[in-house]
Amino acid sequence: MELPYIEPFKTKMVENVPVSTKEQRKQWIEECQFNLFKLSSDKVTIDLLTDSGTGAMSDKQWAEIMLGDESYAGSLSYHKLKDTIEELLGFEYFLPTHQGRAAENVLFSVLVKDGDIVPGNSHFDTTKGHIEFRKAKAVDVTIDEAFDTSVYHPFKGNLDLNKLEKVLQENPKEKIPLILITITNNTAGGQPVSMQNMREVSALGKKYGVPVFIDAARYAENAYFIKVREDGYADKSIKEIILEMFSYAEGCTMSSKKDGIVNIGGFIGLRSQETFRQASTFNIIYEGFITYGGMAGRDMGALAQGLRESAEFSYLESRIGQVAFLGSKLKEFGIPVQEPFGGHAIFVDAKKMLPNVPQKEYTAQLLAVELYIEAGIRGVEIGILLADRDPETRENRYPKLEMVRLAIPRRVYSNNHMEYVAVALKNVFDRREELKSGFTIIWEAPIMRHFTVELERIEKKDLLFSNQSKNLELVTNELEV
Ligand SMILES: *Cc1c(COP(=O)(O)O)cnc(C)c1O
Repeated sequence: MELPYIEPFKTKMVENVPVSTKEQRKQWIEECQFNLFKLSSDKVTIDLLTDSGTGAMSDKQWAEIMLGDESYAGSLSYHKLKDTIEELLGFEYFLPTHQGRAAENVLFSVLVKDGDIVPGNSHFDTTKGHIEFRKAKAVDVTIDEAFDTSVYHPFKGNLDLNKLEKVLQENPKEKIPLILITITNNTAGGQPVSMQNMREVSALGKKYGVPVFIDAARYAENAYFIKVREDGYADKSIKEIILEMFSYAEGCTMSSKKDGIVNIGGFIGLRSQETFRQASTFNIIYEGFITYGGMAGRDMGALAQGLRESAEFSYLESRIGQVAFLGSKLKEFGIPVQEPFGGHAIFVDAKKMLPNVPQKEYTAQLLAVELYIEAGIRGVEIGILLADRDPETRENRYPKLEMVRLAIPRRVYSNNHMEYVAVALKNVFDRREELKSGFTIIWEAPIMRHFTVELERIEKKDLLFSNQSKNLELVTNELEV
């Protein structure tokens, strides 16, 4: 008999999972105005809000915490991290930062100015924020397939070369400081970018004299997808694939809270000494001296070890396998999920799952709240609340997809926990006919409203009104941006 698959790690320390009753959860979520961000974590049984900074460190990483060298300048932990980044990613120069957005702030302080254009595959929200804050424009050139849940594409994170070339042709190269490749493409659902696409983007960049940079938060997961999905890479090691991916870039920004498997940290990797020198000045102003940049020595040591561990095939196989395990269970139950499954999260299509609730009543938020009440599981709405209002018209923006994201922390939960999540969602799915109305907003912030929004249930409504709102939704969907 073939031996079953086992995780390549065992548990040395455990943390209790908080349990509660449905009645308690109904009361707690109401007290939080139906905003899951307001729940304290002891009221959450399985927390799938994010995979950022929520991973479990290994014994070797904890050992690095004890070995941390806290010297202000030239600490040994810094050198450990520097050597690891050079060996794994191939960047000679590096700057530590306190997290990924800080790396963006420092790098873009050097590269991006008023009126510039930064093409890329669905910039992460803080990345877009740092570009727009400098009065520059982030242009999304992701392939169209990324936004269609019903089509299969092995690399839905890819950049569309025609869209990219159009941007490069229509603007002077002085206005385009960089092309940004985000691996994996978080916004498109943790979807990978192929090696071929990165090679072609790099060639286009060279042709037009524009450097390519990588937003590297989930680069190891991207490398895994290349190995298992792309022709010619099955026999290459994850480390070889990682080195080749970064060979197409001049530099990278990194949120170490993802594939670094640490709770806080980030960095910039660079080839150019000149860019490094300019960025060093900003690093000192914003983050800290260039050999710590907002990180404790012990955290740099733990990150160096985490980067090595996430480049192991066996780790990635269990990580991405667990995400797929949850996705497959949901599929078996007939729950509509985005496919192919991404590297760090499963996205549930709320419009398809709760067809009786119009989008204007925050369908995905309702699904997230019902899942919490059902079993204490916290996911996050990726829909109309997150899409926010148009800054000019102040009208709600209606995204094409209304989703609940279930992000899986690294090495934290077991497959039994995933099974619990799947059954909980099935129970909500089974009572979808009863779920006919969602929420109205009672308070919202002028921007980034999803973090603090306060909601109220729409208890009753007559049929006429609901038909009208359906029609309204159809119209607004067609106008969607
Ligand atoms: C998380 C993330 C960032 C920002 O990093 P923080 O560490 O949260 O500041 C940037 N880009 C991507 C793709 C990310 O996932």
